[in-house]
Formats: sequence, structure tokens, C-alpha cells
Amino acid sequence: SKWVYTFGDGAAEGRAGDRNLLGGKGANLAEMCALGLPVPPGFTVTTELCNRYYADGRQYPDDLKPQVDAALEHIGRITGRRFGDPEKLLLVSVRSGARASMPGMMDTVLNLGLNDQTVEALARDSGDERFAYDSYRRFITMYSDVVMGLDHENFEEILEDEKERLGFELDTELSADDWKKLIVRYKARFEEELGKPFPQDPQEQLWGAIGAVFASWMNPRAITYRRLHDIPESWGTAVNVQAMVFGNMGETSATGVAFTRNPSTGEKTLYGEFLVNAQGEDVVAGIRTPQNITEAARIAAGSDKPSLEKVMPEAFADFIAIANKLEQHYRDMQDLEFTIERGKLWMLQTRSGKRTAKASLKIAAEMVEEGLLSADEAVCRIDPASLDQLLHPTIDPKAQRDVVGRGLPASPGAATGEIVFTSERAEELKDQGRKVILVRIETSPEDIHGMHAAEGILTTRGGMTSHAAVVARGMGKPCVSGAGTFRVDYAAKTLIAGSQSFREGDVITIDGTAGQVLKGAVPMLQPELSGDFARIMEWADKARRMNVRANAETPADARTARSFGAEGIGLCRTEHMFFEGERIIAMRQMILSDTVEGRRKALDKLLPMQRSDFEELFEIMAGLPVTIRLLDPPLHEFLPHTEAEIAEVASAIGVDAAKLRERADSLHEFNPMLGHRGCRLAISYPEVAEMQARAIFEAAVNAAKKTGSAIVPEIMVPLVGLVEELDYVKAIIDRVAKEVITESGGSIDYLVGTMIELPRAALKADQIAGSAEFFSFGTNDLTQTTFGISRDDAAGFLETYRKQGLIEQDPFVTLDQEGVGELVRIGVQKGRSVRDSLKLGICGEHGGDPASIAFCEDVGLDYVSCSPFRVPIARLAAAQAAI
Ligand code: ADP
Ligand code: MG
Ligand code: MG
Repeated sequence: SKWVYTFGDGAAEGRAGDRNLLGGKGANLAEMCALGLPVPPGFTVTTELCNRYYADGRQYPDDLKPQVDAALEHIGRITGRRFGDPEKLLLVSVRSGARASMPGMMDTVLNLGLNDQTVEALARDSGDERFAYDSYRRFITMYSDVVMGLDHENFEEILEDEKERLGFELDTELSADDWKKLIVRYKARFEEELGKPFPQDPQEQLWGAIGAVFASWMNPRAITYRRLHDIPESWGTAVNVQAMVFGNMGETSATGVAFTRNPSTGEKTLYGEFLVNAQGEDVVAGIRTPQNITEAARIAAGSDKPSLEKVMPEAFADFIAIANKLEQHYRDMQDLEFTIERGKLWMLQTRSGKRTAKASLKIAAEMVEEGLLSADEAVCRIDPASLDQLLHPTIDPKAQRDVVGRGLPASPGAATGEIVFTSERAEELKDQGRKVILVRIETSPEDIHGMHAAEGILTTRGGMTSHAAVVARGMGKPCVSGAGTFRVDYAAKTLIAGSQSFREGDVITIDGTAGQVLKGAVPMLQPELSGDFARIMEWADKARRMNVRANAETPADARTARSFGAEGIGLCRTEHMFFEGERIIAMRQMILSDTVEGRRKALDKLLPMQRSDFEELFEIMAGLPVTIRLLDPPLHEFLPHTEAEIAEVASAIGVDAAKLRERADSLHEFNPMLGHRGCRLAISYPEVAEMQARAIFEAAVNAAKKTGSAIVPEIMVPLVGLVEELDYVKAIIDRVAKEVITESGGSIDYLVGTMIELPRAALKADQIAGSAEFFSFGTNDLTQTTFGISRDDAAGFLETYRKQGLIEQDPFVTLDQEGVGELVRIGVQKGRSVRDSLKLGICGEHGGDPASIAFCEDVGLDYVSCSPFRVPIARLAAAQAAI
């Protein structure tokens, strides 16, 4: 088989499209060659060889060596040299290159082929002895470090020692003789540490370096990186071997890196740095201060070191022309690496440049204006998840960070405020117009109001799917969770991190994007939703088919959702409304009374509150669809826990505290998520569903009068498994609707539908669609019930599953398309088979996850619904799915 692809002299066996086979670096080197750009000739050993090598127990196939030899001759023909021949010395670099650029892979080895003999040839050929020995000592250092695993500090130590002895500051002050002496010490150190002399045979050096690249594919750093970024092991890495060009051949030589546009702002100005008389990664290594490439950048930076434009105007002009050509060719901002050898420019790498979210929007938008991209292409260029960076205030990158602790980056954005330890205190201070950070060991549903009042949330326990994390993401509030280095003492009202102690009222900043906790207030940047952002979103909206709704229950969330472009509410979780203020008392009263009359009395108190909530939501959404879900969670979530709370409720209802405690105990469930919840509540307590239906209809009538738009509430019955359950609850809703119609004297249009969140519901979707006018796939519960995995308990072992490679992604974050997705497909198909007009949507965390959104497009859902702050992400992802 063909393991080796050559490039050089205006031709190449590969192309940019061969990235899977040649790796990113190799494919782009081939492409640049084919474009006729000056690229030192070389060859790429394929990623397939890497896989073969591991499949065969770390052995090369027999036909590899002849192909490598032939490719070396190919380089020799172009350069007029021969590898290992001191008369016509050919030196090469060995560079790794996976499909996706990957830290953890082997670093590049330069100047390979040098030894005690060939270094003299290099000195002779170049007429520069100093350069030759400088190159040799670099090679010894790199080869020892990268291939043999002998830390480069060994050599830096020797170098520092020599410089001190000679009274020098800079490496450039060392003469050829100084380097020669140093090389003797380097080789001695090598032999001392590794028990054998430094390899002199160029072939041995070459195969050592190639082997090291393949070995690095399986080093722990690379494995960890792949796991974190979902890169399959089967991709393998390629190896590039390329003729050396030298940026360290004196004052007319240089090496540098550049971006064709500014990677942090996106501005269309070439941005880059170089060093004269330097090699490889000297520029990024920070040994000397690099110089600007353009004169304009030099002036802007106030640097007194001359620009490339000034010192090497011809090479500069060539470089600018090539940079433009490459950007036009790839139609994307490029990240370039180049070397100038005695005035002649050589290109060593090009790739799409990494950039901030802000830059990515600007570049895409401007490239449409420049005619380089279509609007659809621009939309596809933006990583939807990266928008998160733009939708929240963030810490000014220039700001000083005094990090006092770390946790998980549970919800993005940054916030500053005074520390409070209870939700009550959070509300109190918020009412006084103060900004607070709610600090808890962990949060529970009772903390919702405190979380609302706070600017951000910090917990010392819990993972990425803990209550605090999920709710904070839903609210769009920054959250750092599981910050285990802190200790919270509620009694003393202190937050302790090592030797530092914070009290209530002390100001801290949390960075939910980085998972950091900082001391004091820190300068922030506010989100910018106009300009490039708005333009890209406009193009996205044109391109997408699915609607995007928001999960929202409070007026604030509903307004945020609309400002982010939500086209309705896909999920209003009514229970959240019951935790606010005084309502929890009436709610508890309702739950804890064991008679229908008792419950009705409490419900009468709740009715006007719910009605006004819904009215406000309808008004804000002004005729856009609003889906309201009836009470869903197990009742125990509302129960009082402390004696004081029980006493309070007891006196409010006028019953004995002991009796009340008994009733609370009787509501205890072993497995509440599979217990008395969802439509089961409406069936045992029909008066609750009645009250909610009444609140919804009365609110619809009122809001329709006020706004003048038609309001068509969508009432959603949760946790249906049997069509009989739905019919039972629907009968209640229909009856209440009739009553309200009679009372109000007008007509009310409404839909009744259900969540599909139990496997049985998906399987019997045809029956259920006989009664339901819409389905909303509740994929949180559906994932839970399909896997039989409790979301609240899964974080620990799912992580093990990921580490062991049993699953690639957390199914609660990205929809399991094979299993849970199969149920969704069945539900869609069976549902539509009996009702053409069935409206189909998804709510829950997956509705804001780009990969899951692509799946929704694929199965033909009408809309996705997600938390307000994810609405722009969903709009973009839905557009990309449709393009
Ligand atoms: P990375 O993937 O870390 O960027 P590279 O393989 O691009 O590693 O190598 C790093 C640097 O080494 C390049 O930017 C370039 O300066 C230098 N380099 C690599 N190959 C050559 C070569 N054939 N001639 C001159 N310099 C080279
Ligand atoms: Mg590197
Ligand atoms: Mg590079």
C-alpha cells in the first residue's frame, strides 16, 4: 500500500482535502506546494500507517522503508542534495500532524541529519561555522528531549553555566568555538544520562524521530486530550519529513508566525511577529522579544524594534502577497508559519487560525461583504457554542485576577457581588439594590428565589449537572459549582479558602466560564448583541426551518428570551412559580391538607397568583405560542423540612404540628422521580389541575383583551404513559375551558398536548396523538427513563464510563441519538401517522445543544425550546442544521 505522499517544487501527491489521510499540516503543505508557493520539499507518512503500526503491535510494514527512501531521494532531487551524504548535505525536520491540531503530540525536531562529521560540511557549505554549530546544539537538545525523553533543562543548565562563565547575556553572543565546547558537554551529558552516545547515524536519527511521533499518539497527554475533545483514537497521526531551511543563517535570515487577520478582534489587519537570526519556535518561546511584521503594527504597539517591512522589504512583500493568496484560497483567516533564509521566503505551515468568538463573527460577516463567503457559509463558520462567550458579561482580559479558589465552570459569564449565605438574605439585599453572590454548600429548589436575586452562584459541592448548575444555566447566571477547596460555615457566615477567610458582605467575583473565584471586584466587558452578531443571526434566521422557543416561567426570563429572539415559550414549568415568596406557604398548605376542601382553600389563594403570572407571560409573548406544563415534580420537593417551617405551616392551616409532620412523612417516597408526580398528581388531586387550567384560561381572556392579539395557550400534561391518563386530565381541562368560556362570554382557542418522556409514550404515540394536539419531547426524563439512570446520581459513574470509553458523551448533555433518539423517531412517526397537524417540539437541556438540534432537524421537529440564554445558540445551530 501507499504509505508516503511527497510534495515539493510546485507539485504534490496530496491536497488540502486529504486531511484525514495526511493530517492537517501535511495536507496543507501539499496544497501550498500545488499552489506554487515556496515550500521546502518533503513527504508525509500517512495516518493509516499510524493505525497499521498499532494494529501490528508497534511494527512497520515491510513496504514502508523503501517508500521513505524513495521519498528522501525525491527531496534530494529537488534540493540537489542527499540525506546522510556529507558532500551534499541534506537536513530535515520531522513534524507530527494529526487531523485536528492536538497538544500532547510530539514536538518538532529540526536539523535532523547532523552529526560530528556533517556539522563540518554544514559549516563549509554555508560558510558560517557559528551557524552550523548553533544548529547542531539545537538538534542535540531537541532530539534528546523529544525523541529520547531527556529533559531540555539538562542542556539549558549547561548553556547558562557557559554563558555565566563567559559573561554573556544572549545566546547570539556565543561564537562558533563556544558552541563547539558546549556541544562536547551536551554529548557527555547525553551519554551520562542515557548510557549510550548521541546517535550519529542519520538513518537511525530519522527512524527514531518517526517512531517518536507515532509513540506520542499514545502518550497520556494525547490520550487525555482526545478524551476531552471527543477525538477518536482511530484517527491516528501523520508524520511530515521536510527539507530544512534556516532562519538562523545570520542577519538576513529570520523566522516568524502571523495571522492574516487579528485573531482577538477580527480586524482585517495582518498580525504577526518574527525574529532575525532565529530558528523554529524561538518566536513563541519568549527567548528574545519578537518584532512586528508590519510597520503599522509596530507603530500601534509603540515598539522601537524595526518591522519586517523595514528590515527585509522584499521578503515582506512576498509574504504579504502569499498571505493574501492563502486567505483567498482557503476563504478563511489563516495562521501562518514562515522562515526567511538569506532573504528568501519559505512557507512552513498554514491552517485556519483559532480566534475569539467576537473575531469569528467579525471575520465571517466581513468575508460576506468582501464576496469571499455566502451568507449561509458565514453562518456555518461560527461555532454555536462559542456564542456563550458573547451573551454574558465577561472579565476584561486585561484585568488582574486574584484567584482564591476554583471549581467547575458550571454556567458561563462573570459576576461580582457581596457574599450571602442564604436565599432570604440574597432577596433582602437585592431589594435594597445591592448585588450579591449566593454562596451555598449546594442548592435546592427552595433556593430558586435566592438564585434569581443573586448575580451569580457559588457552591462547594455538586457537579456540572447539580441543581445549582442546571438552574443557573437556565437562568443565564454565572455559576461555579463544586468548589471543593472552599469551606462554608453557615453558622459563622464565613467562606474559607486556605488561609483566606471571607465574611458575609465581602465582595467576590466568580468566573463561571473559567470556574474561578476571585477576590474583590474585577473590570468586566458587557455583551455586544448588535453589529456583526446581529448580522450573522439575521442570516441564520433566514436559513433555518425550525422555530426556536425558550423555557421560561418568570417575566424576566420571558423578556430575556424575546430579546434573544425566542419565538414563543416551549416550556413554562409552573412549579417554579410556587417557590416564590409567600406562595410556598399556600402550596404547602395545599399539599399537607388531607381533605379536598382543605386543598381547595389553599388553591383559592394560589389561583390569582398563577393567573397574574400567566397573564404577564402572555402579554410579554404577545400572541407568540406559550406552552404551559401542569404541575410536575413530586410533592416532597415543596415540603417543609425544619421544625420551624412545619410549625409555621401548621399555624397557617390551623392544625396540629405533630399531625402535619405525620402527613409529611406519609408523602415520603423511595424513588420520587418515578413516583407520585406528573399527570399522576392531576389524577389524584384533580382540583390542582382545575385550578391551573382556570388560571391559564382566565389569564388568556384577560391578556387577549389587553393586547388585542389572539392568545392560544398550549396546555401540556406531563409524564403521560397511557392515553387514558391524558384523556382523564384533558377532560378536566376541557370542562374548565367550557366554564370559563361561559363566564367570560367569549371564545377561547387552546391546545392540549403532552410531553413524551416515557418510553411507553413514545411507543404508543399513535394512540396518544389521538388525544394530543402537540408533543414536546421531554428528553431529560426520556433519557433518564430510557437508560434507567437517575440524572441526579449519574455524574459520578458516567464520568467513569467516559474515561473507560463506554460512552463518548454524557447523554444528559448531548442526546443519545441511537437509543433515546430511536424513541423520538418512533414518537414522531407514529404521532404524525394519525395526526398530520401534530406540532412537535423538544424541551429540556438538549434543546440548546447544537448536536442534538441537528438531530431534531433531521427527524423533522417543528421547534426546539431551550433556556433563554441558549436561544441565539439554538437559532444558529438550527440554521446550520438546515443548510
Ligand atoms: P507545531 O505543530 O508545534 O507548530 P511545527 O511542525 O509547525 O510544530 O514546527 C514548529 C516550527 O519549526 C515551525 O513553525 C518552523 O518554524 C520550524 N520548522 C519546522 N520544519 C521546518 C523546516 N523544514 N525548516 C525550517 N523550519 C522548520
Ligand atoms: Mg509545538
Ligand atoms: Mg507549526
